[in-house]
Amino acid sequence: MYNYFMPTNIFFGENSLKENLISKLSSDNKILIVTGKNSAKISGVQSDLTELLETNKIEYKVFDKITENPKLETVHEGANYFLQNNCNMVIGIGGGSPIDSAKAISIISANKFTNKEFYDSEKIQKAFPIIAIPTTSGTGTEATQYSVITDTEKNRKAGFGSPIMFPKYSFLDPKYTISLPKIITRDTAIDALSHLIEGIYSNKRNKIVYPLIYDGVKLIFENLKNTLENPNDIHLREKLMLASLYGGIVIAQTGTTMQHAIGYPLTTNFGVSHGLANGVVMKQIMEKFYPAVENDLDELFTFLNIQKNDFYDWLDSLDLGINANLNSEFIEKNTAQVLGSKNMLKNPMEINSDDIMEIYSSVRGLRGLGG
Ligand code: NAP
Ligand code: FE
Repeated sequence: MYNYFMPTNIFFGENSLKENLISKLSSDNKILIVTGKNSAKISGVQSDLTELLETNKIEYKVFDKITENPKLETVHEGANYFLQNNCNMVIGIGGGSPIDSAKAISIISANKFTNKEFYDSEKIQKAFPIIAIPTTSGTGTEATQYSVITDTEKNRKAGFGSPIMFPKYSFLDPKYTISLPKIITRDTAIDALSHLIEGIYSNKRNKIVYPLIYDGVKLIFENLKNTLENPNDIHLREKLMLASLYGGIVIAQTGTTMQHAIGYPLTTNFGVSHGLANGVVMKQIMEKFYPAVENDLDELFTFLNIQKNDFYDWLDSLDLGINANLNSEFIEKNTAQVLGSKNMLKNPMEINSDDIMEIYSSVRGLRGLGG
């Protein structure tokens, strides 16, 4: 039995924001725009959005203090600002960090949370409407019910979610990703690729979204390198954005697995970007899980018209490496953390601490992005 639930109203394509936003708002809306320091501005979203709001006399405030790997304290600060200004809607602009923060601000404000209550999905009863405008092609958060906020006390990235956290509307315009630097383009695409492939690993795998998985992997496999070489090509940017959206729709149904659980400590301890943290263990995890999902992965490779080793060669050619010393102390401590994470419940097979230690020990050093 498969179930599919994805209530977000999605607008995809050039000018999708400009042509559709205002019809979805009313003069009663008081909006909090949630974003990072630069992305909303350099992508062009902020000026397009504020012009639309001002022309149509819709009130808004801006909270632009979101950093990468957003923190518990920052989303509380954003929620206080939301409530002080009597806002009733959030618009997250950016990569996953600002959009996840907009989701957190919505539910902290609506449920009057004072601390970490949101990590317990049972406690999430209400949300203010959420609108997502992505400026990266990676997380797919514009089509998921999840948010990832760092619990600073535990120095731990932790996801949480509720069906009421799906954005009400998402506007995806590939032109807003043209300003992405090469490394962020690569790393975010690898995050999207992880989501798609984890849709196969997950023990909640769902045949309804398999066509999206196959098409999404193909879009990235065939177009990522080309996009890195031609960053201003809107048609290539559109393909990566579509793949990222597919990845979001997939993990909204299946959740993520050990792949994400193993990546999080690399981000919190060494500042490795989220996508790269997934990328440096992607091959090892595929080897580990292959026996459990062999038929489905083989079907994917047939669809791509390649063998598994061709896929590994392609991954190698992206030069995914990190500048970090994974010593035995790191490996021991974080293996325990990974084993205890919720994502591990979705793995397609039994995994023990030796497996995780072996994967961490195999992480490659940095060679830099060639070309
Ligand atoms: P991000 O952390 O949101 O942004 C990374 C960097 O890219 C930031 O410096 C950002 O600038 C910059 N940037 C964003 N858009 C840009 C643009 N168009 N042009 C130039 N620079 C731009 O990166 P992300 O990979 O999209 O999000 C990662 C986060 O999402 C992680 O915390 C991850 O755990 C989470 N995640 C969530 C889900 C979910 O379903 N909720 C799924 C996967 C991952 P600014 O600092 O100015 O913003
Ligand atoms: Fe991710």
